[in-house]
Amino acid sequence: MGTAATVLLPAQQAMARTKPIFALPSSSTQRFAWTIDDGASNSAVRSYLNIAQNTNQHLTFFVTSSYSSWRNNASQIKDLLEQDKIQLGNHTFSHKDLVTASDQTVKSELQRCHDFIMNHFNYDARPYFRPTYGYWDKRVVNLAAELGYTVPVMWYGTIGDSGSTSESKMIDLAIQWIKDGRIVIDHANRMKTKHTLDEITRVMNVRGLKSVTLREAFGKNFR
Ligand SMILES: [Zn+2]
Repeated sequence: MGTAATVLLPAQQAMARTKPIFALPSSSTQRFAWTIDDGASNSAVRSYLNIAQNTNQHLTFFVTSSYSSWRNNASQIKDLLEQDKIQLGNHTFSHKDLVTASDQTVKSELQRCHDFIMNHFNYDARPYFRPTYGYWDKRVVNLAAELGYTVPVMWYGTIGDSGSTSESKMIDLAIQWIKDGRIVIDHANRMKTKHTLDEITRVMNVRGLKSVTLREAFGKNFR
């Protein structure tokens, strides 16, 4: 069932970007991109999906496809994709560091995640991928581009990464980083309390910001 990512022609490869993107293009609307990675926690994935479902915040998920949470929530994910409320990006199969991996491993990590998203959601995640740990170099970017993943996405500010980040610290980070034009990184690896998620959404609302997907911000034909 695997759907091979189209290999780019040499001319297209040469035109592929050589550096990741860190921010959204400028716009007259107040907007930012709330991007959520990994998916180790099923309940965290579900709570973010519910935000997309129940509010007008649009979310981009960078899927690590070996986590069962993506399979477990497949029907809600499909519904939200159909409504253009969420976007899926490629965050590899098993979250290996791509910079130290062989060429073949870099490609198979991205290809396996691509195939998973295609087979489960009938959705093409290209051209957006997020390098694991934010580690990238020219080789990784070029290998990804060969598979059609020509847009490596970094971020400008994080809302709590690790298990050691307290809930109050996460709210402080949201206040610090959620601003117009930003790409903000978040993780679905640990359940945030309803209070924390409500506070984070309140920061957006108070600032008159709406989260948009990367596809909405960059346009459908961005490569
Ligand atoms: Zn990650």
